[in-house]
Amino acid sequence: MSQWIDPIYYSIIPFALIVICLPIFIYGERYLPYRPEWNGVHEDTKSDFLRTILVLPVGLKSAEFLMPLLFYYPVLWMHDSYGTLSHFFDYGFAAQVLLLLLASEFFYYWFHRATHEITFLWRFHAVHHGAHRVYWMNAGRFHLVEAFFSGMFYFLPVLFLGPEPEVAIMVVSISSITGFLEHINVDFEAGWLNYVFNSAQLHRWHHSRIIKESNTNYGKILILWDLLFGTFYLPKNKHVGEVGTVENDVPVDFIGQGKYPFERR
Ligand SMILES: [Zn+2]
Repeated sequence: MSQWIDPIYYSIIPFALIVICLPIFIYGERYLPYRPEWNGVHEDTKSDFLRTILVLPVGLKSAEFLMPLLFYYPVLWMHDSYGTLSHFFDYGFAAQVLLLLLASEFFYYWFHRATHEITFLWRFHAVHHGAHRVYWMNAGRFHLVEAFFSGMFYFLPVLFLGPEPEVAIMVVSISSITGFLEHINVDFEAGWLNYVFNSAQLHRWHHSRIIKESNTNYGKILILWDLLFGTFYLPKNKHVGEVGTVENDVPVDFIGQGKYPFERR
């Protein structure tokens, strides 16, 4: 448990990376946009901004601080019985990062897929899909309830596997940066990287208004679990059409937007 309880770097390092990378992403959107009309200030900008700087961090941090309390005894049992990732695997830093990534992505994949396939959960996730464009600030556009539970599922393996702190920080940092990277409105062909990472090229299909197209590409960083579970989607010679939900109505939280209840298409 001791690795988990010096949380300051879990925030500072990913935040510093975001501060460095965001101007590059925004510059890219301006000078090489996939859809120029997706740039600029729209009616959703204010709520996207508040969700990005307030709702998402509060949801994720709440999950991060509550999880060690909620899972204290199961985690203690796991570490006592099987040891931690650092004791269990002696293959170094990269192997630990890879293993933790695979585990976190597995949990996230099924959580994300459930939010699309279970109507009750979709009502929260619809906030993320409610925008009629895909651009960098969509990375923070989440309902507070979803922000909390997605953080919980993503960090669950960190808690149970007990990696070295720098391994966890690396995974959280990659996750923070790729959250923006998968949403950026930059016209970029990812090529073979599309079969390793969930690129913006893949993620735009996930935001399609056509349900068959949007119930795909659920991974956050990696696309491996989509490839294995049959939800990978990358049509050749075709561009995504309209994005967002068919109706504008998305569930209301304290930021507001739309009406409740929201029906799945
Ligand atoms: Zn989704």
